[in-house]
Amino acid sequence: MTEQVTRATFDEVMAPNYAPAAMIPVRGEGSRVWDQEGKEYIDFAGGIAVTALGHSHPTLVETMREQAGKLWHLSNVMTNEPALRLAKKLTEKTFADRVFFANSGGEANEAAFKLARRYAFDHFGPEKNEIISFYQSFHGRTLFTVSVGGQPKYTEGFAPVPGGITHCEYNDIDALKALISDKTCAVVMEPIQGEGGIIPAAPEFAKQVRALCDEHKALLVFDEVQSGVGRTGTLYAYEQTGVTPDILTTAKSLGNGFPVAAMLATEEVAKSLAVGTHGSTYGGNPLAAAIAEAVIDIVDTPEVLEGVNKRHQLFVDELTAINDKYHVFKDIRGMGLLMGAEVTDELAGHAKDFLAHAADEGLFVLVAGPNVVRFAPSLIIPEADIKEGFERFERAVAKTVADLKK
Ligand SMILES: *Cc1c(COP(=O)(O)O)cnc(C)c1O
Repeated sequence: MTEQVTRATFDEVMAPNYAPAAMIPVRGEGSRVWDQEGKEYIDFAGGIAVTALGHSHPTLVETMREQAGKLWHLSNVMTNEPALRLAKKLTEKTFADRVFFANSGGEANEAAFKLARRYAFDHFGPEKNEIISFYQSFHGRTLFTVSVGGQPKYTEGFAPVPGGITHCEYNDIDALKALISDKTCAVVMEPIQGEGGIIPAAPEFAKQVRALCDEHKALLVFDEVQSGVGRTGTLYAYEQTGVTPDILTTAKSLGNGFPVAAMLATEEVAKSLAVGTHGSTYGGNPLAAAIAEAVIDIVDTPEVLEGVNKRHQLFVDELTAINDKYHVFKDIRGMGLLMGAEVTDELAGHAKDFLAHAADEGLFVLVAGPNVVRFAPSLIIPEADIKEGFERFERAVAKTVADLKK
């Protein structure tokens, strides 16, 4: 018999590191989700930029079923066909020549940062080991990746943390110039900061970062865990920055919710990940790889990518129309379907109020920090769902404004 579980069960048996919503979703289809009570929601959150093709996409369900009936797991003592096919596709479609598979964004970044250190060690010796990353950046929750991340609150109480990591102001090339040196082994950046508040790198900034890396023989690592796999309207966001990284990490949308991640690198850099230097039990297992291959096949088509840019404009128009009426946002920004609406100074700290009221109205949205309401829906969300979602969002905005006047 299946045991009855409710939200109250969470407070009894789960580690208290999350504070989930009061309802429990049980089923999803496309961009609609239903909870235990049968209440329906429109999904503008996409499981935090993960379900890029919505819930229960028929091709993905079929792919998973087919592979599940064939082979799930072997270990990296053997290779497998889906992993090889996926790696081939990722190298054909990007700057990269080599792929390492992992299971989460944090793990892909862990591999990237270890590779950057190891490459510098191999070519320049142990002194060249410093990593520079940016304030407000997010790179995962392992001790190394959370230390590279630029949000000090996430390392509080976990000292001693790994050393050789410096943080720099984002979009400030003079600050980077002052910090970078011949001891720098890598500069790590998100081409558009996600968790930090949906802040795109200025085009000139990305180019200057690349030039400084070249000057100091440091590797440029792009964390595209959130921005990758069509999210910004190109397969990877770096294509729009006009610079090519040496290492790129990808996860979130790659498996549409099935755990899978990859680190992509050039031939020259990947050489330093020699036999025995790094590994993962599950990374690149056939089930995950088969699903990711299907995701890439669907996303990397002109139809889906052009659709992202079209939907971006719809989101901008809808948000602007609501804002013209309620004056709650001071900035509406983002790339593709990674959008942020920053609340006005009077509403500072209240982004999460919009999220709570939206859920009441039957809509999932996200926040990115205390001041930004974030939207990361399915890349193929139907236009009708966008329209109806924004009708619900407008009611949530009205409630938020009314609440604060009380
Ligand atoms: C979500 C995220 C990560 C961490 O991914 P996990 O799968 O949670 O480990 C790393 N970097 C960026 C940019 C992210 O958005």
